[in-house]
Amino acid sequence: MAQKPKRTKSGRAWMHEHVTDPYVKKAQTDGYRSRAAYKLLEIDARDRLLKPGMTVVDLGAAPGSWCQVAARKMKGQGRMLAIDLLPVAAMPGVESLEGDFTEPAALNWLTERLQSGRVDLVLSDMAPNMSGVGLRDQARHYELCDLALDFAVQWLKPDGDFLVKVFQGVGFEVFRRSMQAAFVQVAIRKPDASRDRSAEVYLLGRRLRNADDPAVTSADEGV
Ligand code: SAM
Repeated sequence: MAQKPKRTKSGRAWMHEHVTDPYVKKAQTDGYRSRAAYKLLEIDARDRLLKPGMTVVDLGAAPGSWCQVAARKMKGQGRMLAIDLLPVAAMPGVESLEGDFTEPAALNWLTERLQSGRVDLVLSDMAPNMSGVGLRDQARHYELCDLALDFAVQWLKPDGDFLVKVFQGVGFEVFRRSMQAAFVQVAIRKPDASRDRSAEVYLLGRRLRNADDPAVTSADEGV
C-alpha cells in the first residue's frame, strides 16, 4: 500500500500560514489565481502604473494573478505578453510563453511579438526555485533581475516603468545602483501583502534616464 508522504514541521507551518492567510482567502473570493495579485494591486493604487491601451511584459507570470490584475485595469485595451517556466492558463488579452526567460528563445519570442513597438511597463516577479543555499539563491535571483533590467532598458518607452521583485541582502545595493543608473526615479515598495518575515521588496524604476538627465547622486538614494 502506498505510504502517505510525511509532513515536515516546516511544511505544516507553511500549510497553516497558507490556510489562515487573509490574502489567500481574499484571492479565492475575488477570483485571483494567487495572493500575489494584492501586491500589484497595492503598488498600482499608489503609483498608478496600469492604464488601458498599454503594452505590458510580465516576466515570471505564473500562475497569472498579475496578468489578471493588469488585464482588468487595461479593460480589454492594450497588449500583454507573459513568460514563465510554468504554464500560464489562457486568459483573454494575454499572450503567454512557457519558457525560460534566460534562454534566447524567450527573447526571440518577445522580439517577434513586439517588432519595433516599445513597451510601457515591464513587470518582473521572477524568483528562482530556492536551493536553500542563501548566497547561491541570492546570486541566481539577481542574475534574473539583471536580465530583466537589460530587457527593460532595451524595450521600454522613454517614460516607461519597470517593477521588479528583489530580496534585500547581498546584491541588493549593487542592483539598486544599476536601477538608479537606468531610471530617473527609483522607489522601494513593500506592499502589505508581502509577508513581513520575507526579505522581498519591489523596486520601481520610472522614466529611463537619457543624456540630459543629471548624473545619479546620493540624493537619489532611498527615493
Ligand atoms: N506574479 C505571479 C502571479 O501573480 O501569479 C507570481 C510569480 S511567482 C512568485 C515567480 C515565478 O517566477 C514562478 O512562477 C517561476 O516559475 C518564475 N520563474 C523563475 N525563474 C524563471 C525564468 N528563468 N524564466 C521564467 N520564469 C521564471
